[in-house]
Amino acid sequence: MPGTEAILAEKGFLDYAIDPGMDLFAEIERLKKEKNAIILAHYYQDADIQDIADYIGDSLGLSQEAAKTGADVIVFAGVHFMAETAKILSPQKKVLLPDLKAGCSLADTCPPDQFKVFKEQHPGHTVIMYVNSTAEIKAMSDIVCTSTNAVAIVESLPKDEKIIFGPDKNLGRYVAKKTGRDLVLWDGACMVHEIFSREKIVKLKNRYPQAKLIAHPECEEPILKEADYIGSTTGLLKYTISSPDNEFIVATESGILHQMQKASPHKTFIPAPPDNNCACNDCPHMKRNTLEKLYLCMEYEQPKILLPEALMDQARKPIERMLEISAQKGL
Ligand code: SF4
Repeated sequence: MPGTEAILAEKGFLDYAIDPGMDLFAEIERLKKEKNAIILAHYYQDADIQDIADYIGDSLGLSQEAAKTGADVIVFAGVHFMAETAKILSPQKKVLLPDLKAGCSLADTCPPDQFKVFKEQHPGHTVIMYVNSTAEIKAMSDIVCTSTNAVAIVESLPKDEKIIFGPDKNLGRYVAKKTGRDLVLWDGACMVHEIFSREKIVKLKNRYPQAKLIAHPECEEPILKEADYIGSTTGLLKYTISSPDNEFIVATESGILHQMQKASPHKTFIPAPPDNNCACNDCPHMKRNTLEKLYLCMEYEQPKILLPEALMDQARKPIERMLEISAQKGL
């Protein structure tokens, strides 16, 4: 019988059998109370996970929650770099991730050894790193940002400051355009936001002429050019709530449609189609988490995030700088 470590290394979670008659929602609520645990869920999680979470948000909101929670255990329903960020901000707490293999294609595009060389090729540059990056990359950065605060963070620096922006080139290009700054971009991208089909979106716009196209800045430029509104996941959600329009084509991961529909039940939300045979665009990493895995990780307190102290100390500085600037700007 393989041990816990071997199962986690192979599967990413403890695949113990669960009684199919078990009320998972009730069991997870019980475990939350018993262990003084809080569930933080990203907007791209399955609807069931969003519904049982204590806090649902995008990367900035989740980091802010992780920094201030009084819970003993943080259960992070998201991907690995997000749980790492929570651990870095609350090193004394136990941080659990339902599936250790819930990674991120964007974070993977920026390996630390290659980024070290890139930095050396651009001496005298301040490194602004999108939160979708590993702890090692954050530790090599000056300020972390999210899509909510990236423009404000770049603008908080003097106009003549030389800046490297990574790892997402699409977000970097968008921020450069918005701020008028000349950013040195790392050549990374998210597999989910890169595969929207402009052609299919244009056809959808013709079919739903009243619909507004709203897009995340991780999308490629041709999609952003078509968009009526560009914003972070939270920005898109807020826009659909305050807008007088009733139909929206949504170009980001389709998990956010659950909150949009809940907030505005009378409005219509159409997921923007990717350039394949699917009708909507799911992140395969985010969707590795399930209610069953959430229950198992809380019951057995595994898998948990473990990081070396020195790495956490180094990576915390740029994250805290982001949180300070965000607080100053009221974000
Ligand atoms: S949607 Fe893209 S950036 Fe977000 S977790 Fe998935 S792969 Fe990473």
